Amino acid sequence: MEIFLWILALVAVIGVIAYHRQSLLVASAATAVWLAVGQFVLNVPAWSWAIWAAIALPLNVTAIRQALFSRAMLNAYRKIMPEMSSTERDAISAGTTWWEGELFRGNPDWSMLHNYPAPVLSAEEQAFIDGPVETVCKMTNDFEITHERADLPPEIWQYLKDNGFFAMIIKKQYGGLEFSAYAQSYVLQKLATVSGVLASTVGVPNSLGPGELLQHYGTEAQKDHYLPRLAKGLEIPCFALTSPEAGSDAGAIPDRGTVCMGEWQGKQVLGMRLTWNKRYITLAPVATVLGLAFKLDDPEQLLGGEKELGITCALIPTDIQGVDIGRRHFPLNVPFQNGPTRGDDVFVPIDYIIGGEKMAGQGWRMLVECLSVGRGITLPANATGGAKLAAMSSSAYARVRRQFKVPIGYLEGIEEPLARIAGNAYLMDGAANLTTTAIDMGEKPSVISAIVKYHLTDRGQKAMIDAMDIHGGKGICMGPSNYLARGYQGAPIAVTVEGANILTRSMIIYGQGAIRCHPYVLAELEAASLSDQRKALADFDKAVFGHIGFAISNVFRSIWFGWGGYRFSKSPQRDATAQYYRQLNRYSANLALLSDIAMATLGGSLKRRERVSARLGDMLSELYLCSAALKRYDNDGRPAEDLPLLQWALEDSLAKLRVALRDLLDNFPVAGVGSLMKALIMPLGLPSKRMGDKLDHKVAKLVMTPSETRDRLGHMSFLTDCDNNPLGTLQTTLNDIIAAEELVAKVSKAKGQKVPFIWLDRIADEGLEMGVLSEADAQLLRRAEIGRMKAINVDDFDSDELVADKSTIPQKATKNAA
Ligand SMILES: Cc1cc2nc3c(=O)[nH]c(=O)nc-3n(C[C@H](O)[C@H](O)[C@H](O)COP(=O)(O)OP(=O)(O)OC[C@H]3O[C@@H](n4cnc5c(N)ncnc54)[C@H](O)[C@@H]3O)c2cc1C
Repeated sequence: MEIFLWILALVAVIGVIAYHRQSLLVASAATAVWLAVGQFVLNVPAWSWAIWAAIALPLNVTAIRQALFSRAMLNAYRKIMPEMSSTERDAISAGTTWWEGELFRGNPDWSMLHNYPAPVLSAEEQAFIDGPVETVCKMTNDFEITHERADLPPEIWQYLKDNGFFAMIIKKQYGGLEFSAYAQSYVLQKLATVSGVLASTVGVPNSLGPGELLQHYGTEAQKDHYLPRLAKGLEIPCFALTSPEAGSDAGAIPDRGTVCMGEWQGKQVLGMRLTWNKRYITLAPVATVLGLAFKLDDPEQLLGGEKELGITCALIPTDIQGVDIGRRHFPLNVPFQNGPTRGDDVFVPIDYIIGGEKMAGQGWRMLVECLSVGRGITLPANATGGAKLAAMSSSAYARVRRQFKVPIGYLEGIEEPLARIAGNAYLMDGAANLTTTAIDMGEKPSVISAIVKYHLTDRGQKAMIDAMDIHGGKGICMGPSNYLARGYQGAPIAVTVEGANILTRSMIIYGQGAIRCHPYVLAELEAASLSDQRKALADFDKAVFGHIGFAISNVFRSIWFGWGGYRFSKSPQRDATAQYYRQLNRYSANLALLSDIAMATLGGSLKRRERVSARLGDMLSELYLCSAALKRYDNDGRPAEDLPLLQWALEDSLAKLRVALRDLLDNFPVAGVGSLMKALIMPLGLPSKRMGDKLDHKVAKLVMTPSETRDRLGHMSFLTDCDNNPLGTLQTTLNDIIAAEELVAKVSKAKGQKVPFIWLDRIADEGLEMGVLSEADAQLLRRAEIGRMKAINVDDFDSDELVADKSTIPQKATKNAA
């Protein structure tokens, strides 16, 4: 019995060492001490030292370890190592890892998260948002843009060009604004609450495109020529990658270029003949310079290298003969400029390649690197702006609109979607900010940008659907007073572009994350591909034994956490948020363990197992989103009043994480692995509770009442009460309606009966007559009534106004027709 207890204690010692991720040497020393204690106290047989020595010595002596284990493992690894195409390799090696790497490794250091600086706008950025951004929002009439013009009006185009809206990423030395990613995100969020066309038109030149590519890879001559012109709006850029045959699989573009000599401005020069057929290209119909991606061949080896050079990016002025632009696609009634472009045998000099001829064939890497940044700003910002629009409109509307004699927001059925919108808007703002913090710290966060691209556009779309449901017919009938419908219609655009969401979830997040974030996998892959055998063995040995120790640690951590031990794990806070940090510790360890299990059991086939990849990616994503919400709470100064929003966001994300974890293990493709893992890491099951109704109630109540919390939720939305901004008017009406409720109660009391909350202007007259209201009270009631009716009413049109082809309208017969 004593020996049994001693063995149990030995396992516990190993467990504690593994939990704390101590080295092999420390583990060997600690087990030796325990063995000595056993021998001294319990007479543990001396031959147990032989077992210890047989295990510990070969593992601790590098030369023996390499000869006995690492060499064989390296050979086996090389046989099963997944084949990687050069485009995959470029995608994996492009960009950097940041906080998500910490979450992936099973033991997040929360102080690292909280030590990242809280983002702030510079005085210049703030002035831009309060000045030109506010002005252009006031100038914008989205219904006119989307229904009448199918374009921004000329004065808005000019205002955008004159005020540097297309130059937020361009450096000051070239006349640009050189804004932080954080500022860009807030500019776009504000524009997105007003008009999708406006936000897309500004977003695209500041995202992946000629400006970004030139700054990173352009030659000095290219930068000096183009960047000042782009900054002033003298050039309108677009970037053309997608072809009819190559959408998600963009590396498969059939568009070609051939290096050759040709005539250019009367001289024979080295150049390329280009033929392309691109579609879906934003700003192409009005672009003056086309960033073009194509595959370049050099059959005569005029550049002195390979015959097939690969994907290359060049800048093509659109006024060159043979360039065909101008026609338009019609994306979901959100008619920003978007269309096809074609070119047939167009000759351009070789120095039209971005970065010059040395960058021939480097296009894919350039694109993936720039995408890591742009994808983390533009679409997440537009989606967050959309979610704020949904939150600020739905919460106000739910308080103003009454049915069954109460504001609809008091009805339990409405509380649920309202809380969902608000909780998501809170989380999305945190995630957008944490991601721009990474970018502003100089990271190129390829995994994080994929996470926020997918999850924020997905949540943004769902927020718009919820908002439409809350608004009922008010959301459906289109016209100048409808602030929702175009956002709802356009939400699938953000879902589709820059890596369609299903693909991003199924392949990209975890596909890149697994290799980039894992502390050892990339090192193993790199070691195995070395031709210097000694170095390969040394590097592989270091990586693989680090990996084994890491995996053992995650097994012990996951088992301990599964029995409830996560409740004792580290949290940087002791308040109501502590339990969330601890839960995240648990799931982070689970993700690290299950990642290794998936890689070990599925090997190279993991990349085809998209559902496994998607669910592991979901776990990583929800961990990131939760930590972004916690960081936001901290950056905001930990205001206790905002706690329900934070709790909602965390409960929702944790519930989604648990669904991913359960689904992964219930469907794990290798028989028995899922059940074994369930027994190991969730012996007591997983919490099944989703959001409590009480929390929904708290959140809904919180956002229907003006407060600092509500202001923080709508921060950087365009809420000014002015012409063309029914959303701003609705906010004024919310305040008026709340004040009016007290006045109506006064009149009801004086009359001795409950007065229905309609015709507030008549109630004002009655109150004045009875002497229970002042003139100021009556004014307020009259104003509230006007606002209330504006909030409730929808637009109607003369039938002919809605007919696009006026020639199909039958001539009306006149009474005195001859
Ligand atoms: C309005 C608009 C603007 C755009 N702007 C530009 C632009 O400026 N420049 C530019 O170059 N391109 C642009 N695009 C192209 C955009 O990036 C592509 O539409 C996108 O890459 C998807 O390609 P696709 O539409 O052909 O869909 P497909 O590739 O045909 O995909 C169809 C579906 O299959 C899914 N799918 C594909 N592969 C996988 C996989 N391996 N696993 C799981 N699911 C998968 C996708 O997620 C999607 O749901 C724009 C597109 C639109 C609609």
